[in-house]
Amino acid sequence: MEILPLNREEIIGLLNTPAEDCQQLYERADRVRQQYTGDAVFLRGIIEFSNSCAKNCLYCGIRADNSALPRYTMEEDEILATARGIRQSKATTAVLQSGESSAFGDERFGALLRRIKEETGLAITVSAGERPRDVYAYWKECGMDRYLLRFESSDPDRYRKLHPDSSLEDRLQALQHLRDLGIQRGSGFLIGIPGEDVALLADNILLCRALDLDMIGIGPFLAHPDTPLKGEKNSWSEAPEMFFKAVSVLRLVNPLAHIPATTVFDSIFPGEGRNLVLQRGANVFMPNFTPVNYREKYLLYPDKPCVDETAGQCAACVLVRMEALGREIGKGPGHALPRV
Ligand code: SAH
Ligand code: SF4
Repeated sequence: MEILPLNREEIIGLLNTPAEDCQQLYERADRVRQQYTGDAVFLRGIIEFSNSCAKNCLYCGIRADNSALPRYTMEEDEILATARGIRQSKATTAVLQSGESSAFGDERFGALLRRIKEETGLAITVSAGERPRDVYAYWKECGMDRYLLRFESSDPDRYRKLHPDSSLEDRLQALQHLRDLGIQRGSGFLIGIPGEDVALLADNILLCRALDLDMIGIGPFLAHPDTPLKGEKNSWSEAPEMFFKAVSVLRLVNPLAHIPATTVFDSIFPGEGRNLVLQRGANVFMPNFTPVNYREKYLLYPDKPCVDETAGQCAACVLVRMEALGREIGKGPGHALPRV
């Protein structure tokens, strides 16, 4: 087994790996991924069930103030039918994602979770922003197994500037509630928010370790034209290898976490971004099952891939990718890995 853990200085050193040595770093991360999580890639099917959002995160394409965007919230039966589609695929988890809004109603959503659990038996992950502790507790009772809530940036001042409606403290409190309730937790951050340097990137990776996360999703920031950050460049746009180095170092520092190859990598490196991430530390893939008529309305960032593809096409594409990578598909729910 590789010798872990790494300290801050070592992490910064690894993130500064020169281009000619990156391959070695990627191979090391791939070995650690293989040793700790195995060769199986777990598939989690995403349903983007509503783009309604009351928040105004500066970077996000579906923020409340984007009045040009038509809003939608899927009906229960349609969400359930989509979840049945996931059940029929090789994915074993349904990830229900939306903006942070009361459009659906917390109780109604709980009832829907119960139906999905009873009718499909899928593992259920929810990603719907900060909610009161009681709501998380109720959703758990209804069948929710996991929750995704990124901390986005570990620097409180930067967090405040990016999120006019919340603080890093509130976000970490929400993550603590989830932990206390025994809900498996995913968090993570945006890579390359304008002004980010290597030290902040290292601190973001270290915060993931400090939070002892079950799942960690990270992805490059991409400026959306209908947001206050339009035209802003990713801090690493001139050195995009950093996106992959970040994933590899994340794996070395968090060997037991489930790490998805996030969709945004395919926006930047069409057709191959997520495959490369799976060879550089990641072990999870999240095919999109959102019905095709809603996809154009759930553009958190520009150039999102697969907007014209049906759920069936996404499910088929993932099989081709896994085959090409020589990776098997995870069986069973793919819950959090026990700590050693
Ligand atoms: N409303 C929920 C879930 C949807 S947003 C929440 O905020 O947690 C899911 C993720 O999309 C966010 O955590 C953010 O990191 C990412 N995201 C939003 N806008 C983005 C952008 N412009 N570039 C890259 N990722 C973005
Ligand atoms: Fe809403 Fe999430 Fe986008 Fe923030 S990141 S504006 S909470 S959908």
